[in-house]
Parts: sequence; C-alpha cells; structure tokens
Amino acid sequence: MASESAPETASAELPGTAHGPAPSPAHHTHHTPHGRAAALRREQAVLAAVETGITGPEAPLVGLLDIAGIRSSAAALHAAFAAVTPAGTPVLHAFAVKAAPLVPVLRLLGEEGIGAEVASPGELALARAAGVRPEHTVLDSPAKTPAELREALALGIAVNADNPQELARIDALVASTPTGSPLGLRVNPQIGAGSIGALSTATATSKFGVALRDEGAREWVVRAYLDRPWLKRLHTHSGSQGVPLALMAEGVRTVHELAEEINATAGRQQIDTIDIGGGLPVNFSSDDETPGYADYARLLKETAPGLFDGRYGLITEFGRSLLAKHGTILARVEYTKSAGGRPIAVTHAGVQVATRTVYAPASWPLRVAAHDAKGRPKSGPAVAQDVAGPACFAGDLLAVNRELPMLEPGDYAVVLDTGAYYFAHHYAYNSLGRPAVYGFAAGEDGVRFVVVREAQTVAEIVAEAGGAHRDALLPE
Ligand SMILES: *Cc1c(COP(=O)(O)O)cnc(C)c1O
Repeated sequence: MASESAPETASAELPGTAHGPAPSPAHHTHHTPHGRAAALRREQAVLAAVETGITGPEAPLVGLLDIAGIRSSAAALHAAFAAVTPAGTPVLHAFAVKAAPLVPVLRLLGEEGIGAEVASPGELALARAAGVRPEHTVLDSPAKTPAELREALALGIAVNADNPQELARIDALVASTPTGSPLGLRVNPQIGAGSIGALSTATATSKFGVALRDEGAREWVVRAYLDRPWLKRLHTHSGSQGVPLALMAEGVRTVHELAEEINATAGRQQIDTIDIGGGLPVNFSSDDETPGYADYARLLKETAPGLFDGRYGLITEFGRSLLAKHGTILARVEYTKSAGGRPIAVTHAGVQVATRTVYAPASWPLRVAAHDAKGRPKSGPAVAQDVAGPACFAGDLLAVNRELPMLEPGDYAVVLDTGAYYFAHHYAYNSLGRPAVYGFAAGEDGVRFVVVREAQTVAEIVAEAGGAHRDALLPE
C-alpha cells in the first residue's frame, strides 16, 4: 500500500476488558450473527474513537470505515458469483468508484481482487492512484469527451459507449489507432422504475444507454454490432437503491437475450462478455446485509440461466452494497434546545455529509444511535427529538421526531450505514469542511485506526474558494 497517507495507530482497550462487558447494541436490530458481529466491531470503534481523541470537541465530526466489513463484503461478492458460474468463467467485479471515491478504499478492494468502474477523469485518476490495473477498470460515463476516450483506449481500459454519437467517435479512434480496450455498448432495457425516481436508470425515458424498446432501436443495435466486429461487450445497469431485485434481474435477462440474438445473427460468439452493472439495494433499517449477493446471483441464474453457462464472461459494478454497511459517522452534539415543544440536538453532521438524506429524507432515512460523551451507547427512555446538522437552513436535519435516548451536549449522534454516498460525498454548503475518515480494525487487543483521508483545513477551504485570486474582480 504505497499511495495512501501514513497510518496512524491509536490503540484503545476493548470494551470487554477494562470496561467490563462489551455494551450490548440493544437499540439496533440485527438478526444474523454477521450483522451482530459488525455491530459489535462498530461499537468498539466508537468507544475507541472517543477514548483516543480521534473525535472530540476539536474534531466533532469524523467518518469511520470497518476494514473487516469491507473485506467480508468483497469475499461475499466473489463467492456469490463463483457459486453460479462454471469454473474458469471470467468474472470481473468492478467497484463503482462513485460510491466511495477514496484511494485507500480502492486499494483495499484491489487487494481483494475487485477492480474499478469509473465515470469521470477524476474517478479514473483515483483508480490509477490506487494501483487498479487497466484490465480491471471499466469506463462508463454518459458524457465522455474525445480526450477521455483517447486516454481510455490508449490505456487499454474497457469502455462502454453510451449512445450512437459516442460509438461514432470510438469508430474513428479505433480506425486510426489499434487498441487493446474491450469495447461495448450500454443499453437501457426500459424495465421501469423503482421507488426512487432519481436512481431508476432503466425507465422508458432514462438518459442512460440506447433505449432498447424504442422504435427501431433493437434493429439498430444488432446492426451496430454486425458492422463492428470489435464491439464485443454489452452493458446495462438497470437500477440502484429502490429498484426491486426481480426487476433488475429482468433487465439482465433482456440484455442476455439481446446478446444471443446478436451472436445468432453474426453466426459467431461476437459478444463474449456481459456487464450487468451494480445496483444491489442496501438494507438501511438494520445491521443485516439483506438481500445478499448470493440471493441476487441465484435470482439472476434462475432468470437468465444461459448467462451462467460459461459462454459469457461477466462484469459487475456494485457500489453501495460493497461499502454502505461499513461506514459510520460520529457527530458530536454541540448544543441541545427545544422549539415548539420538540427537543433538538444540534450536531456537526448535516447536509455536508448526508446530502441525500437531508434533501430527500423520505427516500434516504438513516439510523441514528445515541452515544454518550465517552462513546457508550445511551440507554434511557426514548424521546422523540430532531437530530439537526450545522448548516444554516431549516431543513438541515438528519432525523426528524426520532425516538432516541435523550441527547445531551457532548454526546454523539452515531449515523449508521454511511460508507457509500455519504461522508465520502462532501457537499460544501456553508463552507463546512470535509471530515477526516479513518479505517479501523477491531480485534482482541483493541482498535487500530488508520487515516484514510485527512480533514480539510480552513486554509484549504480558502484556497479552493479562489483565495489566490483575491483581487480578480476588482477594476484594474
Ligand atoms: C452508480 C452506478 C453503479 C453502482 O450502483 P450501486 O447502486 O451503487 O451499486 C454501477 N454502474 C453504473 C453505470 C453506475 O452509474
């Protein structure tokens, strides 16, 4: 691990040793041994984070990542697809970098045999900084510039064209310079929406891919492949959080059928690899990882058995399901107050780290656990209260009217399941700084923390806000 910041170690006593029995996370629900183990590791880490000063009055907001949890999700993903494919089937799991764009995370996943799905020059640079190999990288953005396409083809990374205009650009590049990049086309099976419109990628009018059911589209796609013997992959990503598993599987079935049709028409196995995208939904209401990769892989095999007979290589692009359960936000309660009879805890976590939850609370509810000033889970009667963030607008609330043990100044609001699309996705409202992110390993001899990302400094905030161009708008 060469590229990440220097590890910082801080050890803390196990809650089961010096502090008596380990606290029972009774206020969380977990029905599986796996979920319970993850909850216990998290509780150890929260205690240790407070005890070692990783969080406290001067660092009232941090993100934590459970290294063992990430590893176990990676292993579960490998096992799930190994169980439904014949030995020797090429399967590449490419992590959707947008879910946790952090170099050490990409490096850890790389160590676990997971590649990277990238969708911007920045994401590609992160994957390269993490040492992800070109043959384990897939580029999927809907708005690739000529320069991005040239770079990708020069590196030999896989590219999925989004639309006919992009395919025409790739035609020109392929004609002028040979490339080792595996090339494909993204199609939209138009299977319909899930419960979250903004994340439903396969509606009739989705902006992604070639809309397969539109008039003439299917014929166009088949012809596009026949005209391009080098076009060998098909790609779809038919949903994310909120799309039912069966609907996603239906999208994959449609794409497999299309591959069979193209291959039959071509009279050879032109399409050798199908990229089924990501989108496994995450359970945000308990510590259990349900549904699991094994459930989805089994359903896919039932729905499209021919995709798993060994004739096709497979690519997956899971994001949220690999990271979400393994991230935790610790937000110190600065003040408490009451308004209109409603208790309010003013914390340091709001829209800057939980943007989706704050702007679309009905779609993105998060579990919040109350911990005391020493990081211990609070008990006591549940009181309906608001958990507010630090930003200056009234809607900056992590939880509204949530029943929790009464939060007090100096306590911590522990925000669960925030490893994907939360603290890694900073939103700079009110110039609130990006929090530090630590990885943790919880073991028999305590909890070890490593720096994944430093907290943003106030000087960096000024620099990023044009600090070097102070007089730029003044008259000469
Ligand atoms: C966002 C995205 C993914 C990952 O989706 P998750 O719901 O996080 O698994 C995969 N592929 C593409 C093309 C995406 O845009």
